[in-house]
Amino acid sequence: MTLRATRSEIGAAALRYMVAVWTVGLAFAATLLISPLIDPGVSALFLLAVMISAWRGGLGVGLFATALSGLASAFVFLPPTYSLRLGRDALLQLMVFTFAAVIIGTLSAARRRAEDEREALLVREQMARVEAERANTVKDEFLAAVSHELRTPLTTIKTLTRVMQRRAPTEAERREYLEDIASECDRQIDLVHNLLDLSRIKAGGVQIKPSRVDVGEVVRACANIERIEAEEHSHDLSVELAPDLPPVRADHSALRRGLCALVENAIKYTPDGGRILIRALSEGDGIRIEIQDTGRGIRPADLPHVFDKFYRGQPIEGDSGTDGDEVPGIGLGLHLARALVEGMKGSIVVRSDVGHGSTFVVRLPVWNEEANDDDQQMILSQGETATEHSSITAAPREGRA
Ligand code: ADP
Repeated sequence: MTLRATRSEIGAAALRYMVAVWTVGLAFAATLLISPLIDPGVSALFLLAVMISAWRGGLGVGLFATALSGLASAFVFLPPTYSLRLGRDALLQLMVFTFAAVIIGTLSAARRRAEDEREALLVREQMARVEAERANTVKDEFLAAVSHELRTPLTTIKTLTRVMQRRAPTEAERREYLEDIASECDRQIDLVHNLLDLSRIKAGGVQIKPSRVDVGEVVRACANIERIEAEEHSHDLSVELAPDLPPVRADHSALRRGLCALVENAIKYTPDGGRILIRALSEGDGIRIEIQDTGRGIRPADLPHVFDKFYRGQPIEGDSGTDGDEVPGIGLGLHLARALVEGMKGSIVVRSDVGHGSTFVVRLPVWNEEANDDDQQMILSQGETATEHSSITAAPREGRA
């Protein structure tokens, strides 16, 4: 690889120097042609050759052209001809030529450099504009998605409240309406929490403080939080914990929120009556937590992007989520989950088989008393790879645990 790069660099340099040879050669031929008519001395045509060489190849090539021109003139055109020994006048002529050629070469190369820089600047500016336009489109789409996500539950809540006000519902209906209202409220709260997390991360306000955490307890807590939602969709939500799991180095709240986001997705993207399994087991120096579902899976084209901010996978043909409606979301859950997990020096990956389900795998380091003494609280901010930090504190997510 390096050898190939060096070879191509040498090739490019040789080409640049060939320009000097060609232009000086042409100047030489033209001077030779006019020499019977006028005494050429050091021909001005050589200055042209130097200018073109410096323009095409830079100062080095310009100086090379100057040297070639000087030699050719001294040997062929300046008296005594066909000898490199020069008289006083010829030497003076040659010195004046060299001086002028060096100045012209330097100016020509500098001008070329400035033009190149201007062009590069223009390209960078165009790229920045394209990027800004893209960001603007993402922002517009995001606002549209958020408005939609806010309006839909509010409309449901309003409609159900009106229905309950206008006619006396039966006890069963009342309970059903209230449950629907509560779940729509949860959906709104989730959305607001995600938005808050995002702006906190942007402002560097999300902190993670790792401590000794019982992973089994967090997994069970998360399963309990999500159980009602899972039951509403007749999912079988189960937990499998390997015996004697060692404690992990994690932030309790951040871990719970990261795992809950994965379980919420498993519920959302699995058609009713599916199976969701949360497993935790030891793996080498760490703990591996798997969230498996039997849902719609993720298209291979979406897989590399699902952790990107605001990315939403394309619906899979013949499937429309869990209840026949478009699956709600704004493409933030996985982005935030990864930020939190990486903030704890962990990692998160996904495997998926379209039509058969997905498995998200979270890996976390086990707690090590000595290694963790030096940990400091760290701030998670956007654009940073959280794994570069030794620790981070996630702000608790009110009302979820
Ligand atoms: P949202 O769910 O709001 O779209 P996420 O960031 O949580 O945003 O997920 C990003 C995308 O990843 C989703 O739009 C979906 O296409 C895909 N996805 C995430 N989890 C699952 C899952 N368990 N099964 C299938 N697809 C999933």
